Amino acid sequence: MREDLEQLKQRIPLLEYLQRRHWTGCRVAAREEFVGLCPLHPDTRPSFYVNARKNLFYCHGCQCGGDLIRFVELSEHLSFRESLACLKQDLALAAESALLTRTTAFFQMQLHRYSEAVEYLQNRGLQDPDLIAELGLGYAPGGNLRRHLADFGYSLDLLLRTGLINHQGRDAFCRRVIFPCYQQGRVINLYGRSIGAAFPHRLLPRSKGGLFAWDSVGAFSSVILVEGLFDLAVLWQAGLRNTTCAIGTHLTAVQWPGCQPSRPTGCSPPRPPPGKCRPAGPHRRLALRPGPQQLLCGRRHGV
Ligand SMILES: [Zn+2]
Repeated sequence: MREDLEQLKQRIPLLEYLQRRHWTGCRVAAREEFVGLCPLHPDTRPSFYVNARKNLFYCHGCQCGGDLIRFVELSEHLSFRESLACLKQDLALAAESALLTRTTAFFQMQLHRYSEAVEYLQNRGLQDPDLIAELGLGYAPGGNLRRHLADFGYSLDLLLRTGLINHQGRDAFCRRVIFPCYQQGRVINLYGRSIGAAFPHRLLPRSKGGLFAWDSVGAFSSVILVEGLFDLAVLWQAGLRNTTCAIGTHLTAVQWPGCQPSRPTGCSPPRPPPGKCRPAGPHRRLALRPGPQQLLCGRRHGV
């Protein structure tokens, strides 16, 4: 049991765990120690120290300290056992994310090999090659992904579990432009837009995560919220980088907290409410505009 715990902590370094949750710390002198605002209590002066070599933290403000598991217990309000389960799930998601990252790279390679895909992007008004690369856009022609991933040793079981291959053994995405969806630096889902007669929209059967590109868009004081990823891409191309996307007509419980002002050092977002979406609270307004499905999401000081 003790060995298992040590192995788990080695596989998820504390500093990396915190940084994926947007904690930023400054290195203390030349040591492997970092200091920043405490994610466990309201902090105004950096008092939270992380020793990257020992994988330990200590806060001089709230006097909390310990290892990764202790941090998860405190930040997520979980028991020891629940924290372990949470971290094991994190590891499983990391493995699946690595697979989705490799899949994204493969689809990116395909994009310029198929004129039908390039023409489709042009017809949708997307021409900027830098933006296409930045968004990680790719193309799934269908019929060649399973063999490609098998060459890298991925099991059929994992491909089925992630939904990349259907139960007939065929690629789930066929003749679709692919957008990778990122969260905390990881690919967590793929959205495929059909360029043919098939149903236009397809996501893998897993969470689509928070609002698209919220890591960068969330820094703006006002945000344009659109329904579709092509809407977002065209607006980004026009210079409106404060545009995010819900990938659908409703905000999910995971996406809604993204509209709240972000906490500068928060390591975990507020718990999502039950249900699919939630009415606007006192600090925000959502306005559905007529015409294209666009939402303007007002934050504390603007719309
Ligand atoms: Zn603290």
